Amino acid sequence: MFVCLFVCLFATNQPINQPTNKNRAKNVIMFLGDGMGLPTVAATRVYRQQGINPAEKKNYLFWESFPNLGLARTYNVDHSTPDSAGTATAYLSGIKANLGTIGVTEYVQFKKCSNMTGNRVESIVHKSIKEGKSTGIVTTTRITHASPAGCYASTPCRDWEDRVPDDATDCTDIAQQLILDDRNKDIKVILGGGLKYFLPDSYSNSTPPKVNGTRKDGKNLIQSWESYQTNQSRSYKLVFNKQALATVDAKNTDYLLGLFNADHMSFDADRSTTDEPSLADMTSKAIEILKKNDKGYFLFVEGCGKIDHAHHNTNAYRALIDTLAFEKAIESAYNNTSPDDTLILVTADHSHVFSFGGYGLFEESVLGYASSVEPSLDGMPYLQMAYSNGPGYKVRRNLTGNNKDAMDKDFVQETAVWLAYETHGGEDVPVYASGPWSHLFRSTEEQNYVAHVMMYASCVGDYTTKEHCVATANNGAGQTHSFWAVSVIILSNFFYFLEKF
Ligand SMILES: [Zn+2]
Repeated sequence: MFVCLFVCLFATNQPINQPTNKNRAKNVIMFLGDGMGLPTVAATRVYRQQGINPAEKKNYLFWESFPNLGLARTYNVDHSTPDSAGTATAYLSGIKANLGTIGVTEYVQFKKCSNMTGNRVESIVHKSIKEGKSTGIVTTTRITHASPAGCYASTPCRDWEDRVPDDATDCTDIAQQLILDDRNKDIKVILGGGLKYFLPDSYSNSTPPKVNGTRKDGKNLIQSWESYQTNQSRSYKLVFNKQALATVDAKNTDYLLGLFNADHMSFDADRSTTDEPSLADMTSKAIEILKKNDKGYFLFVEGCGKIDHAHHNTNAYRALIDTLAFEKAIESAYNNTSPDDTLILVTADHSHVFSFGGYGLFEESVLGYASSVEPSLDGMPYLQMAYSNGPGYKVRRNLTGNNKDAMDKDFVQETAVWLAYETHGGEDVPVYASGPWSHLFRSTEEQNYVAHVMMYASCVGDYTTKEHCVATANNGAGQTHSFWAVSVIILSNFFYFLEKF
């Protein structure tokens, strides 16, 4: 006990040895793994460690080396298991909201447009723009999908992506808000899928990205965006495939709109590497453009909108592969920024009812069958990965026991309850953090706390006059506190020791 008191505190306790970074966060990058709960993180780590690419054989995912970690409670105001819309409002705007609503207070009910006045809220994107920062949104889903829409839209219904019901007179569709709302016209980088919602239903294009427009109001929002950039004499680029994105000259481009698929972009496991850029490609280009601003930037990257979709289909393989693509984007962003002035968060909006277990042998893929340590009582083989509900149900499927089948990319895991579409999970999600004020993530907090930490660290919204925002950055203060904290801990443990013996 006595030995450990002193040795453990000084030699092995990393948080105590770590100076806190109280700099102003010039830049904030939020990586959102949609549906990436802890079982997904752990399963992906094991999957990779088992050697899908021997050159990358390491026992942690890149972001797991971040120095700080907290948990976020994800529930929506009206549902104990949340969806991506209400959670986006929480982690981007700083308030909890109802399931299915985006960028509005809890006084707006799902699909009820009548109470919008006075209940729209601003996100950290809007607040960063007000402070002169650059902003960007990157996703592999439709850019109008719930999570990215949390950056810029206010709507009582996440499904109103290209139209609203006739009686919703106080509401506009999400695509239109992105392009035409004044508060969104200074967003500098917009990259993702969902092109069809920006084009009239008379529009059709058969070359990649193949698209049939869906808008009933006849608006061509792509033309609107381009006309606005031209009228403002901005340097801009409009791109629709990987090659065009790669050739964007960031030095001479201030505004970038890239939509690479009519609908959601592909799962990384299925992605055409000639047509669609990877998440890392999009993230890198976004940072190149945003970093030109001396005042810094806020960048939202939803890497794993597709993790969520794979889990809903109880298709673990694609979920894990998309998590690995997410990791590449995070590693690239981290290596192109400095933890001195850039706060990077990696978190999820919610989890899924996904689990893995069954005492699999380490040399056999986590995608395969459980070991015989705990045999099933019906004598049939069972898998390491499963879901408690979803489309994979059959009354105890007679699985072959052949790992080769289980590792096919279209294999659907077993589920206990039969649903067309697997559901989200209700447990807390991790928040991995690196950079200024990342030490504020060391406990379990409500999910809307995430938005407040990002705003506080980067001095936007209600936090523009905080000490670190007006004074020169001062790491020393944090180190002084750490010294006194360590001293108090040592003394209190010493007196405890005397009392005991
Ligand atoms: Zn989902």
